[in-house]
Amino acid sequence: MSGETLASGSVDVAIIGAGAAGVGAARRLQALRPDLSLVLLEASDRIGGRARTLHPVELGGIVIDLGCGWLHGARTNAWTGIAEEIGLTVDRTPAPWSEGGHQLERDAADAKAVRIAAHEFFERIHAYDSEEDAALSALLAAGDPWNEYIHALGTFLTGAELHRSSAIDQSRYDPGPGPDWRVRQGYGTVVATYAAPVPVHTGTEVRRIDHSAANHIVLSTAKGELRAKAVIIAVSTNVLAAEKITFWPPIPDKIEAASQLPLGLANKLFLRMRTPEAFPADAHLLGSYHSGRTGSYQLKPFGAPIIEAYFAGDLAHDLEREGIGAAFDFSVEQLKRVFGTSVEDILSPAVMSTWASEPFVGGSYSYAVPGASDLRQVLAGPHDQRLFFAGEACSVTRYSTAHGAYETGIAAAETIAKTMA
Ligand SMILES: Cc1cc2nc3c(=O)[nH]c(=O)nc-3n(C[C@H](O)[C@H](O)[C@H](O)COP(=O)(O)OP(=O)(O)OC[C@H]3O[C@@H](n4cnc5c(N)ncnc54)[C@H](O)[C@@H]3O)c2cc1C
Repeated sequence: MSGETLASGSVDVAIIGAGAAGVGAARRLQALRPDLSLVLLEASDRIGGRARTLHPVELGGIVIDLGCGWLHGARTNAWTGIAEEIGLTVDRTPAPWSEGGHQLERDAADAKAVRIAAHEFFERIHAYDSEEDAALSALLAAGDPWNEYIHALGTFLTGAELHRSSAIDQSRYDPGPGPDWRVRQGYGTVVATYAAPVPVHTGTEVRRIDHSAANHIVLSTAKGELRAKAVIIAVSTNVLAAEKITFWPPIPDKIEAASQLPLGLANKLFLRMRTPEAFPADAHLLGSYHSGRTGSYQLKPFGAPIIEAYFAGDLAHDLEREGIGAAFDFSVEQLKRVFGTSVEDILSPAVMSTWASEPFVGGSYSYAVPGASDLRQVLAGPHDQRLFFAGEACSVTRYSTAHGAYETGIAAAETIAKTMA
């Protein structure tokens, strides 16, 4: 459903945002309460949000994920089972950076040293039990020669520089047991395919939610008004914090929570290779072990003739602003370290994500500013048992992931299923 208006309709439950959380909520509600009418309202012209699979012509139609790509905590990740249930293929090849994966410089002295430094950093994070929160940068070991590497690692995890994000929040992060797996057809394909039985209105930005009346809520959208008895708001924290949806009466605690849980930035650049035989398949490489501003490079994922470069934090913001040419030049300079200067002759830029400027998302995944980790529960709590909040930022331990987002959608749907007459 995309072109039509909402015809001033009325439903039991309106869900805002067709990302992993909104789709999960809709499917669970359909299963638990087929007697309820529901609609999923999506501002953009597609389903999936930050789960977005493309088949770019300039890459010969191969599958790429612009947003989430890895089933983290794959053994207990709900999307693993869903992908198989809907006939997609879960690939269990170890992630190239993991045990058993192909880390190109695994045995180099620098790579060994940073593994130890990273292990010690994570031990300090997990041992962090002060009631007073601190920035992650406070957990750096003074004078450690690998602190630049730890900075880079921190940006990949949170999308933000270490001094911006909370140590307590990071100590709570737990994507669940299991390795990282992938879906051959793309993570975005899983979410979009799973949404097939849900009535979705795309191109339907919700701009205002009036919950002043006792017996109904009025949603003002780009396609007219809709009345609902309950609403699940499953949009990103940057959308909420920017007040792209206004609430009447206002709910300042939610807006404040969202603004303290902003989205960090991670972007991907896909490079095409002219001579694929020059590169190993499904291998991984870090651009630099000595700079906090480095890309991470996945070589020939699934054997395809591409490199997937990953940038995060301030570097990602800079490269997004400067454009695909700058991101390509940056990557090539880093890849020369391993593949020699001629590498620039066999690579060319193809596709790049720009998540900071995605109008209905505004970044990649949420982090907590120091002192704000508990606000994840504040954001997740229902308001007046009629406005429910979902989305990755509402998860205390699995924030920043697509399965964490799904679980928050399920929680909202289950509460509504239990409480709605
Ligand atoms: C580059 C990158 C790499 C990542 N890698 C991984 C990974 O490997 N594994 C992993 O698990 N996670 C990863 N993530 C994170 C993961 O993609 C997200 O955590 C998850 O997809 C968020 O889902 P969500 O439903 O919370 O929000 P979203 O996906 O943001 O969905 C919200 C939806 O709401 C819509 N919307 C916004 N405003 C309105 C409005 N006013 N009216 C109607 N609709 C609106 C948006 O268009 C969007 O479709 C990655 C993200 C990025 C960007």
